[in-house]
Amino acid sequence: MIRLALLGATGSIGENTLDVVARHPERFRVVALTGHRQVEKLAEQCQQFKPRYAVVADETAAQALRQRLQAAAVDTEVLFGEQALCDVAAGSEVDAVMAAIVGAAGLLPTLAAAKAGKTIYLANKETLVVAGALFMETARRHGAKVLPVDSEHNAIFQVLPENFDGDLARAGVSSLVLTASGGPFLHTDLADFAAITPAQAVQHPNWSMGQKISVDSATMMNKGLELIEAHWLFNAAPAQLEVVIHPQSIVHSMVRYADGSVLAQMGLPDMRTPIAYCLGLPERLDAGVDKLDFARVGALTFNRPDFVRFPCLQLAYEAMQAGKAAPCVLNAANEVAVAAFLAKRIGFTAIAALVEHCLDNYGHQQADSVEALLHLDEQVRAAAQVWVRNHYRVLNQ
Ligand code: NAD
Ligand code: MG
Repeated sequence: MIRLALLGATGSIGENTLDVVARHPERFRVVALTGHRQVEKLAEQCQQFKPRYAVVADETAAQALRQRLQAAAVDTEVLFGEQALCDVAAGSEVDAVMAAIVGAAGLLPTLAAAKAGKTIYLANKETLVVAGALFMETARRHGAKVLPVDSEHNAIFQVLPENFDGDLARAGVSSLVLTASGGPFLHTDLADFAAITPAQAVQHPNWSMGQKISVDSATMMNKGLELIEAHWLFNAAPAQLEVVIHPQSIVHSMVRYADGSVLAQMGLPDMRTPIAYCLGLPERLDAGVDKLDFARVGALTFNRPDFVRFPCLQLAYEAMQAGKAAPCVLNAANEVAVAAFLAKRIGFTAIAALVEHCLDNYGHQQADSVEALLHLDEQVRAAAQVWVRNHYRVLNQ
């Protein structure tokens, strides 16, 4: 019986996780669910899974949730705030933590799980982008197991040798190949990019996901973040990482071996597959996923990524190569840019412009401790907000 804390339970990954969990009630006990401000949905989940704890953003959300739970006679204890997230992630009643909060907000609770030596199912890629070195070292020191939920990294994890110890060369691996769908604007005329709306950007052709990662997929920043994620998870040098466009999203990623073999993991684009892989290890669980019908898919195609069309991918690549705190800057700027784009305060092409602006100004900084990284994150967000305000004024003059 795995005792589970689900951080970000009300999100897309959270709901998919609970779907898998509900198929195997004999294997899992849900100890904690968190849902920030999504009180309604969290209340429903608490009714169904009866966790010991639920965590929300603040006192107001906590009151609202308590009322709903009382009315439904559910005796879940309601906590609030960032410290409560860290406490449930590190608590002694929990064996494993699904880290599925979106953005750098997931860093501290995920790090708390690492410090407590938990098994971590890692969806929150921003943790690795902001603090990859620190997080991996913390996990190693405290014996925390990190299992990748992100479909590409999960695919790579599935086809790496079972005894992989962090040395790709020793494992006979020459490179890791991340596949990317290319998102909704793979063939859009470049002249139309500036007019792309949030509604268009969140319409991913293959995957149903949260808003932030959907926009990241449209700019291909998502693949950039995933390069950095792979860099830390698999100890891969930038030269050992490749990106290939694969619009069908059937091959979820590949490992190229020294002898010329390329091993791929395939399946329908359904996050329940990588989630179930992590939750079930070493067994394979029924995840409720449809059978992949090859005849229906027909063709699998592959192309080189276009860095002119997707400057965010280039920026992420450069941030990975620059190292130090550049990825932290990239992430903070991108989070502000995506939120501003979704709020219709900046245009689609301004996302890359804002990220580049922040990297130029802050990308060279050094930040080794979590405090220094969070301080830099804050500084960059403030600078990015100023840029957004100026940009918005210019647009609306
Ligand atoms: P989502 O927006 O659907 O859900 C986010 C969750 O985090 C919600 O439960 C929300 O209440 C909570 N949350 C939001 N802001 C918070 C804050 N400041 N503090 C605490 N909790 C907060 O996002 P998602 O699509 O489920 O993605 C979650 C993470 O998983 C992201 O890091 C994303 O990159 C990664 N991921 C998602 C997918 C996918 O298919 N959705 C695939 C791979 C990786
Ligand atoms: Mg992914």
